[in-house]
Amino acid sequence: MFYVIRLKKLGSVAGWFCFALAAFILLRAVSTLRVLQAAELLADAPVLVIDAGHGGFDGGAIAVNGVRESDINLAIAQKMELLAAFCGQRSVMTRNDDSRRTDFLAYSEHEDLVYRAEVANQLSNAVLVSIHQNFFPTTQPWGAQVLYADDPLSIKLGKLTQENLVSCLQPENRRLAEPALKTLYLTSHTNGPAILVECGFLSNYNEMEKLMQDSYQTALATVMLASYLQFIPMMNSL
Ligand SMILES: [Zn+2]
Repeated sequence: MFYVIRLKKLGSVAGWFCFALAAFILLRAVSTLRVLQAAELLADAPVLVIDAGHGGFDGGAIAVNGVRESDINLAIAQKMELLAAFCGQRSVMTRNDDSRRTDFLAYSEHEDLVYRAEVANQLSNAVLVSIHQNFFPTTQPWGAQVLYADDPLSIKLGKLTQENLVSCLQPENRRLAEPALKTLYLTSHTNGPAILVECGFLSNYNEMEKLMQDSYQTALATVMLASYLQFIPMMNSL
């Protein structure tokens, strides 16, 4: 019992440390960005398009305890939207609840993805961050991984986000950001920078438990938003 309590305390301290580190990066990025926006960027400020993957009849991956990937994606996306507003950033959600598709027979995954790409493509200066969870047939694999579209800006944002996720939340994660497969619709059909973030594996029990925690979801959202804020000043220099 004593060790259980000690381990719980350790987990809590580590969690707060990660969150504090993520918050520090976020605040530093905000202060840098405010100076730049005040100077010239405000007129055509970028718009963060937050895509909570799957939804409605499409639950995405299903964890061993029955939790749907789509619900975790939405929870993280909504936290990211709140943080973006707090930091004075324009953002748009591709979905904000789980009730958009009510007719199972009429549901088409392809049409849904076409709609999500259109949300980003109708905006000028949109930056898409699509939020997902990973799944593997065995329970060992774990760790966040970012996939990026095939253009210099997406590569920059993808690598930056991966580095921040690793340094803030998962120092032992050896995964690298990778180019998204051409068959991945959203990253192949959006005009602006686009990344897809696999936040973790729902097939790994430890990671699944963390992904369900409010505090860990907030930490993930904070790191992704901080990466976006760090990325904005780079958009005109690449
Ligand atoms: Zn997914």
